[in-house]
Amino acid sequence: MSGGQSCTCEKKDRSKWVVLMRCGNASAFSGYRFTRSSYSQVGCEMCGRIWRTNAKYVRELPDRMVEAFQTAVEENRQSEGVES
Ligand SMILES: [Zn+2]
Repeated sequence: MSGGQSCTCEKKDRSKWVVLMRCGNASAFSGYRFTRSSYSQVGCEMCGRIWRTNAKYVRELPDRMVEAFQTAVEENRQSEGVES
């Protein structure tokens, strides 16, 4: 889940992008406390990529719980017949 690679879909469909952690992060490094940051964690429900960005488009993306995001990724994988 780390790394900076963004959506790998051929067609970058932002309607499939959701915000998993808006403007901040809670990592092991900060003892899982919420840390204020200008960066948000964004995920693509089609390819399952998660990346961090401070781009303007984050403001237009809906928020999603991580569990709901992972479920959506799984469902999209299955509907496309891609083996994981
Ligand atoms: Zn994608």
